[in-house]
Amino acid sequence: MLNKARQHEGARSDEEISAVIDRLREPLASVSYADSGELKVEKGEHTIEAAYVSLEQADKEPVGRYIQHLLEKGVRPENASAKVDLWKKLTKLRYSTKGQEFDVLAIMPAGSRIFFCPTETEFVTGGVSSRQNVAWIVGDVAAPASLITLLHEVGHTVDDKNLLEQGVESLVVPGENADVAEQVRKERMASAFALKVMRPFLDDAELRNDVITFLEDYGLGSHYESAQSTINVRAILTRHAMSEWHDDEAEYQNNYFYDAWEKWKVTDAYKEWKQRPENQKLDPEYEEYGAWRSWVEESKYDFEKDIGGET
Ligand SMILES: [Zn+2]
Repeated sequence: MLNKARQHEGARSDEEISAVIDRLREPLASVSYADSGELKVEKGEHTIEAAYVSLEQADKEPVGRYIQHLLEKGVRPENASAKVDLWKKLTKLRYSTKGQEFDVLAIMPAGSRIFFCPTETEFVTGGVSSRQNVAWIVGDVAAPASLITLLHEVGHTVDDKNLLEQGVESLVVPGENADVAEQVRKERMASAFALKVMRPFLDDAELRNDVITFLEDYGLGSHYESAQSTINVRAILTRHAMSEWHDDEAEYQNNYFYDAWEKWKVTDAYKEWKQRPENQKLDPEYEEYGAWRSWVEESKYDFEKDIGGET
């Protein structure tokens, strides 16, 4: 599923990306799913709570349709995700950490249905139908990768709703490769939405970087293998969209550091830092933030401990 077009600067190797995906696919705790049930799994400060039921007759049509799509994409009939009876419907899915929480069903339009197939062996993937308010996830909902995937899919519904309100089918200027450009735009929007929802929960640097890498690979990587291989022009276009995504990522990092700086500069740690000879003459308004950011990035100074990790 990993693609070859990831050649922009700062790109992670396929090995690094595989390691990220493995980390995020690891469930917070191992869950054995019954026909229906509830689960609450915790790991460190993270908690995932879910409740699910078996499919009703009316649920089998949308699940069957998604299975058809998976089979067309090469999923084998003997896989768990190809068996309608192994799918379940979520009635609750909440993620919380450090007193904050998000409720995935509450983010979706009222009456939305989320179907999932818990499987350890298959690649985490998902889909959504904005028209029918249905989302599908192949993956264990106790694993962060499933949550991230679901939020990306929910992001598509938000984007689709926006297109509908504007009465258009695409937001890119018509022309050669406009179809690919629009697909890439949609993926970027969906991942940006997922990142926005999760941002308050991502004060752990490793987790934050993992989520960004996962979304980049999920939204802009694996979906676009075919588009990239069609013709060179299309590959260039796709790479262009990926570099824009990197601009978003850089902007996200900037916001993160600036928010942290605002909090850090009222701490005692700041006073100590300011007393250092190299910092005494810095202009508080124009020079301090830049100098501080370079210093924390070079020294790997853990400023989060001074501000209670609240960034
Ligand atoms: Zn997508």
